[in-house]
Amino acid sequence: MADLLRDTFSAITEGKAVSRETALLLARYPDQPKLWAAADRLRRRFQGDYFHLCAIISARSGACSEDCRFCAQSARYRTGAPVYAMIDPDEAMRVAHSSAACGAERISLVTSGRAADKAALPHFSVLYEQIRQETKLELCASMGLLDEEMARQLTAMGVSRYHCNLETCARRFNEICTTHTWQEKVETLKTAAKTGMSLCSGGIIGMGESMEDRIELALELRALGIRSIPVNIHTPIPGTPLGQLKPLPLNDVLSAVALFRFLNPEAVIRMAGGRQQLGADQYRCFAAGANGAIVGNYLTTQGNPAAQDIARLREMG
Ligand code: SF4
Repeated sequence: MADLLRDTFSAITEGKAVSRETALLLARYPDQPKLWAAADRLRRRFQGDYFHLCAIISARSGACSEDCRFCAQSARYRTGAPVYAMIDPDEAMRVAHSSAACGAERISLVTSGRAADKAALPHFSVLYEQIRQETKLELCASMGLLDEEMARQLTAMGVSRYHCNLETCARRFNEICTTHTWQEKVETLKTAAKTGMSLCSGGIIGMGESMEDRIELALELRALGIRSIPVNIHTPIPGTPLGQLKPLPLNDVLSAVALFRFLNPEAVIRMAGGRQQLGADQYRCFAAGANGAIVGNYLTTQGNPAAQDIARLREMG
């Protein structure tokens, strides 16, 4: 056991991928702070000290037909989440400008719903164009399940990355959602890649899954070649079926982040929604393998003030 971290670290630097069996051993490594520190060294070795910031605009909110059990935006649950079909363009541009000012490199239009709303595309097109003209932000989209025509239209608008979280590993997916499948999400990612977009996909930890399930998800993302992996920490939202779950303990969060780094050494591991629940300890994720974050607010949960994030990240070097 004593040499497990050293041997695994050496194997990764020689270009070998960590196996499922080794990842399971790492998950049981008794000295967790050493595991986190090794993941931090891997982050530095493969990604340097560059920190990746991005932001999202909740372009359409609520009234979703799907039944994702964690989500405040499903029309099936009473959560009080905002419901609107299209964000006010002035509000969207305010978010874009403030995100650019605090160092975000990318911004995503995110819409609720099973699939992208084709009727809304002209509005998105205008918004993307305005963001392009007024900022240097790269454009992303996160609009649910995608067909090839829609993917091509987004690419033509200058969208260079598509986001679709797998949410959880394949074997658990129907415990989380029954109205669409894990495979449909994978097909969406493949369609986006086919039209030239890069991919962003991760999941939510703390929805009752085991560390083995998290390892499966990290392996699935690796098999898909994902290089931008958002890690959300489940925020129990009253009114949703998972609203009574207890938040994941800090040590489990840090070990999950570390394992994502071991299994995906060349990816940006991006802390996303839910990290604010950890208070000041959330920044320890960036010393356990993570090297990116979504700044500002998330879809239905409040994020940190971006200035606070930037100040803490600067302190951490
Ligand atoms: S995660 Fe997306 S698809 Fe699922 S309920 Fe929420 S908005 Fe709808």
